Amino acid sequence: MLFRFRAFAESLLVPWFPAVCARCSAEGCSPCVSCSEAFSPAHELGDISDLDAVVGLVAYDEVSRPFIADLKYRGKWATARAFAPALAILLDDCIGGERPGPVLTWAPTTPERVRHRGFDQAEVIAREVGRYAGRPVRQLLDRQPGLQQTGRSRRERSQGIIFRPRTEVSGAVIVFDDVVTTGATLSAAGRALQDAGASAVVGVALAATPEPPKG
Ligand SMILES: [Zn+2]
Repeated sequence: MLFRFRAFAESLLVPWFPAVCARCSAEGCSPCVSCSEAFSPAHELGDISDLDAVVGLVAYDEVSRPFIADLKYRGKWATARAFAPALAILLDDCIGGERPGPVLTWAPTTPERVRHRGFDQAEVIAREVGRYAGRPVRQLLDRQPGLQQTGRSRRERSQGIIFRPRTEVSGAVIVFDDVVTTGATLSAAGRALQDAGASAVVGVALAATPEPPKG
């Protein structure tokens, strides 16, 4: 795990352009080195239906939240670029380092949101990881307009997420999302990709909401 987080610090040695850390406002890059050392690893995610495996990089907590918000609501591509090396290592751990290997794709956000924000944060993550890791990236899914996920209950979240494959798919596919909470979005994406012919689907999230304490 330490090795994986060292990738953050290494990626920060060559800042693409001066930035202010989204969490502590230090000048230089976002996340800054000290914030990147404060990330907690995501917990091990249990089985999610229609996915062969699912992994998260960092815990979605008070440390990671400002960076995800910067990416999600303010379109900070540099944030995804800073996370790309660590995500690439996570992916190698999960599927092996062979290139080109499986195609990378993403679970598209709702068309309404893409129109409103002008970008899809899950696509930004997939493209930055693909570029860094030298793996192919393709849009394989469209999302039908529907209910937004934020602020909805688990039961509500499991309904109304419908992805349609754009094309037939062969071989294994890696599907990215920004945050995994219940896994409903990644599961729906996995189902659509398998229906389209994927032999295996692995979900990868930048951050995972910590499990609620038991008991
Ligand atoms: Zn910082």
